[in-house]
Amino acid sequence: MKRFAAKYLYTLTTPEPLLNGFVELDDDGTVLRTGVSPDPSAEAVFLDGILCPGFVNAHCHVELSYMKGLFRKGTGMAGFIDQINELRDTQSLEQKVQKLSDAMDDLWNQGVVAMADISNCADSFAIKQRHPMYTRTFLEVFGAVPEECDAVMESVTRLQAEARSFGLDAAPTPHSCYTMSPELVTASSAAGLKSGFLSFHSEESDEEEEMMRYGRGPMWDNRKANGIPTPPVTGTSSLEYFLDRLKAGVPVPVEGNVLLVHECCLSAEGAAAAKKVLKHPYLAVCPLSNLFIHKMLPPIPVMRESGIPICVGTDSLSSNDALCMVDELYCLQQAFPEVPLGELLTWACRNGAAFLGKEAALGTLEPGKKPGLVYISEVGSVPAGASAVSSVEVGSAPAGASAVSSVEVGSVPAGASAVSSVEVGSVPAGASAIFFAEAGTAPHLTKDSKSVRL
Ligand SMILES: [Zn+2]
Repeated sequence: MKRFAAKYLYTLTTPEPLLNGFVELDDDGTVLRTGVSPDPSAEAVFLDGILCPGFVNAHCHVELSYMKGLFRKGTGMAGFIDQINELRDTQSLEQKVQKLSDAMDDLWNQGVVAMADISNCADSFAIKQRHPMYTRTFLEVFGAVPEECDAVMESVTRLQAEARSFGLDAAPTPHSCYTMSPELVTASSAAGLKSGFLSFHSEESDEEEEMMRYGRGPMWDNRKANGIPTPPVTGTSSLEYFLDRLKAGVPVPVEGNVLLVHECCLSAEGAAAAKKVLKHPYLAVCPLSNLFIHKMLPPIPVMRESGIPICVGTDSLSSNDALCMVDELYCLQQAFPEVPLGELLTWACRNGAAFLGKEAALGTLEPGKKPGLVYISEVGSVPAGASAVSSVEVGSAPAGASAVSSVEVGSVPAGASAVSSVEVGSVPAGASAIFFAEAGTAPHLTKDSKSVRL
């Protein structure tokens, strides 16, 4: 049996942390119990930071890891596609496999226990087969020529058989509206949904929206200049076009877990349309990739308002400087400070596990689950610029106590306005949780925060 305690323990059964929480694990990593340490100073392992379940990377293209550092930033989508086509076959298979293997090890060591990964070829299959990280592989197809739809589907069916010969969970998935004929969007979606899962790049950029809605803009021009067929101009968003293509091939509401990746241009109307057509929609945000290519961020307020579960992905090393879940969360925290850290962690752990259908084993620290355990160090406890309490230490609550037994308020920085009151909610009898009463005292990530798998 192993026991770890930390200043903040996020079980993610709720978004609030346990202060001075502990978790006990069986030797195989199964959670035995969690609770609040009666005496942090007596803990063999007490970590000055955050403990949380293993991360689920909801969007990656690990086979593109060999492209690290090769791309120019801020080119927009049309420029990005040109670069990817130039760089696709510039290294040997051995070099590519070594780099994707290193990337998977790196993700695993930082605490990623599961991943929704996009594959266009078989390069990653052998590594995934032997790797301790769980992956669901989305065999992504594209092809804008309508007459080639059947050939593309035959080819991805062969790739699926190959993936399954490695014991992988793998099925076809469509890439995006702008790289595919309408026929292929429908056929590959129907084939993928037989597995119960789809992952689809949707509304990634204004360029995509311009192309689909109005038939103009840099991506439209790029396709025309290269003699590539363009999708129909619908006058609606690319998300609504995708939903229409789904309806053409499968009964509505669509069964299965459907992940809409990026959604930088999501509107409230689009979210409502997705909820109407999809029984189990999910959103995947990859903020650092969006900044890298488009200098934009996903509309988190619209996403939260929609109620569609949000997941977090790293995307690939072709559009990111690193594959690092904490970097993605730090970026989101800085851009959207109104989102509590417990909610961000819920996106990065619990919602990703739910999308992958792995919520029975992963995503929360609960007895019987084997979700992995992550330690995040270099954590702050007062948001930057806060003028209030510098630290609040909440002691343990005796069994049956109706309130927290002690509240210690640390020093107040010079010039800060004094703390007028610290309110701590009552603790129900038998409850093991103590919650923060003041948002200003919640922990937050810093630019130096790092995660490690325990
Ligand atoms: Zn992607």
